[in-house]
Amino acid sequence: MSNAPLDANTPDPLPAPAARRLREATRLVKGGTSPQFEGGRAVNPAVVRASTVLFDSMGAMDDARRRRGTERLFTYGARGNPTGYALEDVVAALEGGYRTRLFPTGLAAISMVFMTYLKPGDQVLIADCVYQPVRHFASTFMRQFGIEPVFFKADGIDLEGKLTPATKMVYVECPGSLVYELCDLPRVAEMAHARGAMLVADNTWGSGLQYRPLALGADVSVMAATKYLSGHSDVMMGTVTTTREAWQPLATMSDAQGTAVSPDDAYLVLRGTRTLAARLAVHERHALKVVDWLSAHDAVARVFCPALPTHPGHALWQRDCRGTNGLVSFEFRSASAEVATRFVDALTLFGIGASWGGFESLATVSKVAGTRTQTDWSGAGPIVRLHIGLEDPDDLIEDMAQAFMRAML
Ligand SMILES: *Cc1c(COP(=O)(O)O)cnc(C)c1O
Repeated sequence: MSNAPLDANTPDPLPAPAARRLREATRLVKGGTSPQFEGGRAVNPAVVRASTVLFDSMGAMDDARRRRGTERLFTYGARGNPTGYALEDVVAALEGGYRTRLFPTGLAAISMVFMTYLKPGDQVLIADCVYQPVRHFASTFMRQFGIEPVFFKADGIDLEGKLTPATKMVYVECPGSLVYELCDLPRVAEMAHARGAMLVADNTWGSGLQYRPLALGADVSVMAATKYLSGHSDVMMGTVTTTREAWQPLATMSDAQGTAVSPDDAYLVLRGTRTLAARLAVHERHALKVVDWLSAHDAVARVFCPALPTHPGHALWQRDCRGTNGLVSFEFRSASAEVATRFVDALTLFGIGASWGGFESLATVSKVAGTRTQTDWSGAGPIVRLHIGLEDPDDLIEDMAQAFMRAML
């Protein structure tokens, strides 16, 4: 298997000029394939389960150990496996990055990024709209290790004034969790880089198809592959993809900590990525139908989806994103929290649970006010977050119609 990344931006050691012009949906299908066996080869790569890796001689083993710090060599199960390498190649191509590392969860990928690039005395500026467990990591691990987390507004409007000589990283999630705030990423990259800080983006919403932070100036892009890449709510994984310049510290730190993913899990996520473009197109179409319907409903005060012209981040979404996904949130006109709870409880086709990105629809009540410290959401009505799945959207709309009626009784 080749060690070379399938990267649109860096030259390929195996030059295939046509391959470099392939669009994402094609690369998702064509990347990370099976090695040749005697006879022929399978469509899919093998699941290589291994702790021990065997070598032909002590010399070969010593040579591999000398080189494995900087090259992707199969030398021990704790440092990755060929099934995972196939997935890494697909994700690196999707994100337009140099290389990718895999982690057991999205949150583990994020914490590895903080542990890699920050040290005691550093400050990190974190967008107000981040996935909530990032705040927990900031208030536990970071504080304990002398790293100072400082939060800034989700649209980045107050970022410049918060950058200090101690700022080593700006960490954004764009669009943000729950209500999908956008920041001007190229501008944020410019500000961060001008002050010597790196830019990290959580790209779980964009999945590398709808949004590409590395192309917009980020140094590192993280995704919870648990969501759309896997797409079937049956496996957890995180990915970190970097530019060539940012790569080595991440590789060194994750080798030092012995993080690796199971080849069976890597196989499942790789299988999910093959249909990512097709699934996302359907999630988007269904979600937009639901957005239209919700926007016209009397019980609804606001619908949150960046594809809506009324969304505060809509212009940036139009400029920087290629589409939206199955996530839609909405605010009730009624200030009563029980109305939202009754609505979710009355749904019959939506699961009640955390996470999203699978083939199925989900609903939860989102306490946005409790997850933002730089903007005041306390005046907002209760907010429900939906993940619109691959079911027929007319069935979902009928289900919501009866749930609204029950919630209002
Ligand atoms: C779900 C999620 C994560 C964490 O992923 P896990 O695999 O569940 O740990 C990180 N960021 C965002 C934006 C998410 O939605």
